[in-house]
Amino acid sequence: MQTATHKKRIKLYIPQMSYEAARVTAAAFQSIGFDAQPSPHSDTRTLELGAQYLSGEECLPEKITLGNFLKAMEAPDFDPEYTGFLMPTAGGPCRFGQYRPLFQKILKEMKLPQVRIFSPTSSDGYEGFGDEAKHLFHTMWIALIAGDILRKLHLKTRPYEIEKGSANALFQCCLDDICNVLAEPTTNMRSKRQKLKAVLIDVRDKYRALPADYSNPRPLIGIVGEIYCRLNEFSNNFLVEKIEEFGGEAWMSDVIEWGWYTNDEQRWKLDKAGKRISLDMLKVKIKQWVMHRDEKYLMAPLVQDFNGYEEPRHVHEVLELSRPYLPRESALGEMVLNVGKSIYLYNKGADGIVDISPFSCMNGIVCEVVYPQVSKAHNNFPIRSFYFDGNQSELDRDVGIFMELAKNYMRKKTVIRKFPSL
Ligand code: SF4
Repeated sequence: MQTATHKKRIKLYIPQMSYEAARVTAAAFQSIGFDAQPSPHSDTRTLELGAQYLSGEECLPEKITLGNFLKAMEAPDFDPEYTGFLMPTAGGPCRFGQYRPLFQKILKEMKLPQVRIFSPTSSDGYEGFGDEAKHLFHTMWIALIAGDILRKLHLKTRPYEIEKGSANALFQCCLDDICNVLAEPTTNMRSKRQKLKAVLIDVRDKYRALPADYSNPRPLIGIVGEIYCRLNEFSNNFLVEKIEEFGGEAWMSDVIEWGWYTNDEQRWKLDKAGKRISLDMLKVKIKQWVMHRDEKYLMAPLVQDFNGYEEPRHVHEVLELSRPYLPRESALGEMVLNVGKSIYLYNKGADGIVDISPFSCMNGIVCEVVYPQVSKAHNNFPIRSFYFDGNQSELDRDVGIFMELAKNYMRKKTVIRKFPSL
């Protein structure tokens, strides 16, 4: 059995669901001594390797994730004894649960069974992280909150920048600052949260100071959809940048939304099983309390900046909005969140919704069936599904048409949008 010391000498690659989420997660692993880094950026080689080792039945996120892992193994300094990949796993019908077994099969075929795949869960004692598991997972949570805050600030600023490229340059510096704090060895979580809050205040002030012209608000486009494909720019052909090129501003559904949903699902299932008063329920409630406390604490300095851009106070808000179309009792996962969040964004004064989904993913297909009813019940609010399979052709044309619809809707809409109070 490998020791904790051996594990920490392993170069650990973190999949790039979004670049910033991978960077902050890597920093959280660095804080307990791992040599962690995001998996390589995606490119045509990623797709080539994915196609070489996969059957073609897999979804695009699986192809890109595994393609990038294989690309990392092409590095000249690749050492199978000291290379690992973070690959969380899940049960249920989603293909996400297949990533790990498929990658294990590929490694076996390549005669590299010693390459480690980390899928820490409570059922395996968090892969032997021991006492450090608590710090690691808590650091990962605040890291993802910080990553979401940075992306949100960035997307509401970049379309209005005066000097092209200035917001992207600022984003990189701010992400480095956030990661530096997260990567410090963790002994005291209270002090880590305080330091992170101080960095976020600095990030906020830098974004406030970036020369920008907000005098002409752009159509606000909510981005929902499958979590990987909407957040990973390569897999969606840089769709957010295209929306901006066509005159829009994007509001991306964040990463931690999924954390809230899965946690609430645990609570809901215990409730349904008659375990409202149980040790398991107490653990879920304590976890929820800590998660809310951290989010509120780190968001507090940005309340004014996010005036008009507030996220739902509780995931129940989104689930209730979805209920007339996809009740949680009979529908599961991202489809419920996407429909509810679309209506939430309509109520915030958004001008359209783009749902980003990998080709053949059931979530996107179900949502596409429901959206016409949602749109009709909400003043013909423009909602459009975009599917991706790694070979997009008419994307510019389709985004252009959609943005015209959003601009028309913006002129006649009745739900008025609020703006930051700075
Ligand atoms: S939700 Fe769809 S695209 Fe995402 S991992 Fe599952 S099957 Fe693949």
